[in-house]
Formats: sequence, C-alpha cells, structure tokens
Amino acid sequence: MSSTQERICRHLRSTALTLNMEKKKCYVCGKTPLSKDEIGITKKLIDKKTSTFYCLSCLAEYLEVTEDELLAKIEEFKNEGCVLFR
Ligand SMILES: [Zn+2]
Repeated sequence: MSSTQERICRHLRSTALTLNMEKKKCYVCGKTPLSKDEIGITKKLIDKKTSTFYCLSCLAEYLEVTEDELLAKIEEFKNEGCVLFR
C-alpha cells in the first residue's frame, strides 16, 4: 500500500518525465513509446495541447469506452483526414 504522499510524488515525477521526454509515454501505465495513433487520439479526445498521453487501453479505461471503440474512432478521424493522424 502506498500513502497519498507517495502517490502525489509519483504523479509529479511522471508528469515531469512526460514533459521532458521526447518520446511520449502513457501517463497511467508508463508504456513507451506510444504509437502515432495513440498520441493522435489522446490529443483529439482530451486536448490538442495536452502533455498527458495515454496508451490505448488506459485511454479506453479513462474514457470508459472499449479499445475497439477507440480504434473505430481512430479510423473515423483518419478517414476525415484529421491532421493529427498524418
Ligand atoms: Zn497505459
């Protein structure tokens, strides 16, 4: 079990890592590198200027959808020619 303080500390450290690293890393599970699709869909669904990125399975959990739904969304955005997925 970890204390709240430890959790906050870990949170800050991972935020700093995300900001400093060129390669994007999943904010939740630490998966790295993230694919273009994962980065694109995070930007699209969270915020274009987000510094917090999620891998597909963590993003699905965060948004309370399934990975398949996210994959379908990615395809949708690609078909629309969304610039984030180029
Ligand atoms: Zn993850």
